[in-house]
Amino acid sequence: MALHLRGTVLPERAVRDLWVLGDRITFDRPSRPADTVADGGFLLPGLVDVHTHPGSPSPDEPSFSAEAFAEQVAAHRDAGITALRFPGLLGEVPAALREAPDAPRLITAGRWLAWAGLSRSAPFHTVTDDLVALAVAEAKAHDGWCKLMGDWDFEAEPVPYDLLRAVTDAVHAAGGRVAAHCQSAQGVLNAARAGVDSIEHGMGMPEQCVDLMAAHGTAYVPTLTAFARSAPHIKDNPRGRLWHEGHRIMIRRVREAHDAGISVLAGTDSAPFGNVATEVEHLIAAGLPADVAVGAASWAARDFLGLPGLTEGGLADVTVYDADPRLEPGVLRHPRRIVLRGRIVR
Ligand SMILES: [Zn+2]
Repeated sequence: MALHLRGTVLPERAVRDLWVLGDRITFDRPSRPADTVADGGFLLPGLVDVHTHPGSPSPDEPSFSAEAFAEQVAAHRDAGITALRFPGLLGEVPAALREAPDAPRLITAGRWLAWAGLSRSAPFHTVTDDLVALAVAEAKAHDGWCKLMGDWDFEAEPVPYDLLRAVTDAVHAAGGRVAAHCQSAQGVLNAARAGVDSIEHGMGMPEQCVDLMAAHGTAYVPTLTAFARSAPHIKDNPRGRLWHEGHRIMIRRVREAHDAGISVLAGTDSAPFGNVATEVEHLIAAGLPADVAVGAASWAARDFLGLPGLTEGGLADVTVYDADPRLEPGVLRHPRRIVLRGRIVR
């Protein structure tokens, strides 16, 4: 049977009736009967977390188990998160889960690729001498995305600009996109100049990166949740003070990036899974207008991933809330109704 929902549709802010037919949305009343599953409240395009790494049974030990992956993905889904991007996974997305009717839409960038000149030791890095070839291969093998370490230790030299540029050009020529981890000023600058598709973290981002990212159409995924969790544990020494300075700068750049027209998106990068509401709150605290911060975990993130929202013919992922999340972002933790792939999850 078709599903019928009525409520204030965001981001349009209009009260509308919509119907779910299979995995599609329509605003035209279908001829067959429909079951009304929401009447009133606020209807959002299903939530998204664009930076999460499920799969490890223990948060402190990098490893991958298909069981832990499925459990953690289910935790996202039960919080109304209907699409996930994984910028780095230690294993492959289990094929059965990828097409399961109750699984969020899963977009992986494959492994964390680390150039051998940058890193030889981090347990979750895939170290390579030929970053260009491997990045292209990963993007082809993994939903069009690859994930690079643009830098690693924030006090050490990052991947050189020329290499990042060569990787980005080659991946783009192959039809792929590049997500770059950057948490040093020079690393962010190199990635912004190279025109990667998303900068993840951006700690210490120099001011000129904002114009570069806007010019290249690079998205910004600050993952403020993860940094807020780390901040109290950073030691008060010269290295720690540099860390805090980089953290303050990245928070300032969130609003500046938005003002420059950059798409700022919500990624949690940390446990607990299903916690994108917390990232929305951090984005608001960093100065993003509330409707933009909500969109960062919903319609803007879906645009970025090529997943149509609540438009005619859009994908049938809908979350329904009793209150307006632009006024009460905390309500994002309490979806009244979740529709995923045209089926009721809650
Ligand atoms: Zn991450």
